[in-house]
Amino acid sequence: MAHVLDTRQLGRPGIIAATAVETTDGLALFDTGPESTFRNIAAGLRNLGFEPGDVRHVFISHIHFDHAGGAWRFAELGATVYVHPRGAPHLIDPEKLLASATRIFGDDMEKLWGRVESIPQDRLRILEDRDVTRIGGLEVLALATPGHATHHHVYQWEDNVFGGDVAGVQLGGGPPIPPFVPPELDVEAWEESIRKIRELGASKLYLPHFGLATGTVSSHLDALAERVRRWADWFRDRMRVGDDQERLTPAFAEYEAEDLRKGGAAQEQLADYEAADPSCMAVGAALRYWRKHHPEEVIPR
Ligand SMILES: [Zn+2]
Repeated sequence: MAHVLDTRQLGRPGIIAATAVETTDGLALFDTGPESTFRNIAAGLRNLGFEPGDVRHVFISHIHFDHAGGAWRFAELGATVYVHPRGAPHLIDPEKLLASATRIFGDDMEKLWGRVESIPQDRLRILEDRDVTRIGGLEVLALATPGHATHHHVYQWEDNVFGGDVAGVQLGGGPPIPPFVPPELDVEAWEESIRKIRELGASKLYLPHFGLATGTVSSHLDALAERVRRWADWFRDRMRVGDDQERLTPAFAEYEAEDLRKGGAAQEQLADYEAADPSCMAVGAALRYWRKHHPEEVIPR
């Protein structure tokens, strides 16, 4: 049985979730939310009749702070933390991750993410692509799914998938959108990852942003894949006519807002989408992606 726990980061409901699954060997938590919201997740667990120490297993989709920032708190209580091989070094020694996040978030670091401390190596388990972890009677399959980040796993158990960020951001009844963030955006890898998720054939998809996806998994993935390609191509076309970061930032914010409205998002949801996935991030991500992977495609003509 899966429970979606709301981190209520910065007091906002429905933006960042952790997902708890009951097993015969304690709770498994899929992403933790940031450390700043540990108390809210603890309160959510108590509401269900559990204590934070009942979390014995923490599966991390990827190491960004909105997903894994709270993992060390659960490790401290004795949980084992499962992570992609490329993510593990950053959980053991978060210095580099903190430095690069500080370049983006500056003085807001503590307010947004709380404290980040290292996780001892003996509390970590590295999972390779297609590794299966048995917890009590539950089998959890890890699927390496780059695109949003190179160190990204999706997890499947029974008929469920925990999609991480590569499975899109979908808030309320709005449409699924792909969170493009620097520096590892890879459009072709993202498309391949969507195919891998599709092949699992699961009927329920849990998202860190936010909760159980509405509609069927395949229609969700169709709409997501369409946006991954269309958004990437939108940036390519603008780069070809010479648009730079300064022009692209307001233009993409407008393009995304219009796309969200067309996709059925209510006006008041636009700020929630912006909180879960700031549109300005996509600009730096896409510029870097095209210049690195297909420089010949974006020569201004
Ligand atoms: Zn995220």
